[in-house]
Amino acid sequence: LFTFLVFSCTKNESSSIKNNDLEEKIENLVSKMTLEEKIGQTNLRGTSSRVKGSLPEALKEGVRKGEIGAFLNVMNTEYVDELQRIAIEESPNGIPLIFGRDVIHGFKTIFPIPLGLAASWDTETAKTSSKIAAFEASAVGIRWTFAPMLDIARDSRWGRISESPGEDPYLASVLGKAYVEGFQGDLKSPTTMAACAKHFIGYGAAIGGRDYNTVDMSEQLLRNVYLPPFEAAIDADAATVMTAFNEVNGIPATGNEFVLKTILRDQLKFNGFVVSDWNSATEMITHGFAKNEKHVAELAANAGMDMEMTSQAYELHLKQLIKEGKVTEQQLNEFVKNILRIKFKMDLFENPYRDKNHTGNFYAEAHLTAAKKAAIKSSVLLKNENSILPLQKNTTIAVIGPLANAKREQLGTWCFDAEKEHTVTPIDAFNQHKVNYKFAEGLTYSRDQSTEGFNKAINTAKASDVILFFGGEEAILSGEAHSRAHINLPGAQEQLLKELAKTGKPIILIIMAGRAITITNIIDAIDAVLMAWHPGTMGGPAIYEMLFGINEPKGRLPISWPKTAGQLPYFYNHKNTGRPADSKNFVHLNDIPIEAWQSSLGNTSHYLDAGFTPHFPFGYGLGYTSFKYENIQISKDTISFNEQLTITAKITNTGKNEGHETVQLYVQDIFGSITRPVKELKGFEHIQLKSGEQKEVTFTITTNDLKFVNHKLINDFEEGDFNIWIGPNSANGLKTSFYLKK
Ligand code: BGC
Repeated sequence: LFTFLVFSCTKNESSSIKNNDLEEKIENLVSKMTLEEKIGQTNLRGTSSRVKGSLPEALKEGVRKGEIGAFLNVMNTEYVDELQRIAIEESPNGIPLIFGRDVIHGFKTIFPIPLGLAASWDTETAKTSSKIAAFEASAVGIRWTFAPMLDIARDSRWGRISESPGEDPYLASVLGKAYVEGFQGDLKSPTTMAACAKHFIGYGAAIGGRDYNTVDMSEQLLRNVYLPPFEAAIDADAATVMTAFNEVNGIPATGNEFVLKTILRDQLKFNGFVVSDWNSATEMITHGFAKNEKHVAELAANAGMDMEMTSQAYELHLKQLIKEGKVTEQQLNEFVKNILRIKFKMDLFENPYRDKNHTGNFYAEAHLTAAKKAAIKSSVLLKNENSILPLQKNTTIAVIGPLANAKREQLGTWCFDAEKEHTVTPIDAFNQHKVNYKFAEGLTYSRDQSTEGFNKAINTAKASDVILFFGGEEAILSGEAHSRAHINLPGAQEQLLKELAKTGKPIILIIMAGRAITITNIIDAIDAVLMAWHPGTMGGPAIYEMLFGINEPKGRLPISWPKTAGQLPYFYNHKNTGRPADSKNFVHLNDIPIEAWQSSLGNTSHYLDAGFTPHFPFGYGLGYTSFKYENIQISKDTISFNEQLTITAKITNTGKNEGHETVQLYVQDIFGSITRPVKELKGFEHIQLKSGEQKEVTFTITTNDLKFVNHKLINDFEEGDFNIWIGPNSANGLKTSFYLKK
């Protein structure tokens, strides 16, 4: 024990000496900087990535004078090198620049969209994908990514749900940590990128799922649901945080002192730098919060925005505001220190230049293999009637639908740097593996309304054993500013599916999309549904392997899958109302038996024409085998505040094939000083069992896991009864209970 104490003291001391050294270096440097140079550090400038010819003189001059601290979207490596050289060699204090870009789910090798990666429920997948993204992007000098996006999203109408970790704070938190670790690794290494947890905060709660819309929420909701993923990212040492476009309870996030200072700095102890979103500073004028650009600078500075992306309020007005005493120079010094701290931590003062020997190995075999694996782990099998999947190798197949061979579309949103020639589509993969198929797309793109191709598609279907319909959304139907009010299959896809169903041939629908797609209108006509999200570069081979049983789809839904957009926002971890919950799950809209309408009228919180439950619950996903859950056991019926609780259940693979299961743990705090969600995810474990094999899965929770922020804004657990479940998804599972004593 003694040695341990000595050792730990030495360790702590040495890290605080290191920190002191670093802070001293930073102080020293700041003391040498002019006001203009300090303001320069807060400046994040863009150059058009497509600029041809020479680098604009004005930018070079800005860097030379120390008036620019960072760039985004400089995609010409010669520019990167030249700008950095000027910063180091010619600017007054030789402070290195940092180059940022949206490297969201891969740089060249594209991984599934983040919502897909979230469906993997797998930290390794999140970590590997971001590590590879950093490795590739850093080769062209990008050392800062505007990712991960950690906005909880409960509404599939919102286009940016595609970039989100889904609806659950626990899942989003474990993924958030993994992303940061993957991107950053050892921040000093020239093959890594500084991460940016975004958007702080509440962006996913935009009213009606309309992008940029107002966010109005209680502080309890903010702290219990929207904040935890950011907390996890900051605990994992995320270097930067981006503000959100939206207002939070009346004050735009970019000028929100409570959000940026009280929560982010004082409570979460964030010590990296805060960057605004694209013009989000000057958007405060349109919000009706700032009167003019100068007022923007004053509000943002006093709120704690360190760096300004693209707009120029600081650049043009900060000096004057300091002169007038409306912003203090100390405040500006804090911004500069926060920015320099990250530049030092990235070792940019010692190693400012791109490592020219680091090629990034774009599309390397190992990167592609990881991308394929990620697509398999992300894909969620929603329906598999009569175990139609996996297919027999010699099946004659009709391949139909607009996404069977859409190289750009299958990559999804935020892919600027991947060359689509590298995308392997399902058709490419079928060719490679000599699958016995005929292709008649039927519709040329996802929104296609024309029925011209229907006949050919139907005839092809008639001549085959099975139909593979590749439907969904083009890449541009999700992502920023791409919300949808109707979230069914766009264009004439449903119509074509209904026509194809008349052939009597089994239909397997493979969906590639950036959100949950409502399929209640067509579900009965379809035998199997595989949700592949936008699966990225290796979507084709991944889908081939899943369809033919070389691998099984391993994903579980990170969002509740609605029956209709009219149910949104929907999330499994909702509260009870004063009325009994209705668990009847009517899939068909306008198809609910009249007795149900009458008996449940006035009794439950539901829609008459959509019921209460979603089409598929959060956590749901099938594989190619089946599992039985038995014998839930709890270590104690009562635990006190310093004790742990162990919960176990036996899980058996009761099917014919070996298979993977994501075993999930949910808790309900039945009564509270504020009402509590009906269920909350608190853990999960991946298991792989052979046919007939059994495994005891054990979870441990502590009272820490049972804390929540109450009406007095105190984060604590409360004495009382709890329910606890181990199950395959949020709607099913074995249940037991315990009592927590304070
Ligand atoms: C988005 C950010 C992104 C930034 C830079 C904004 O429009 O909201 O998420 O990082 O642009 O491209």
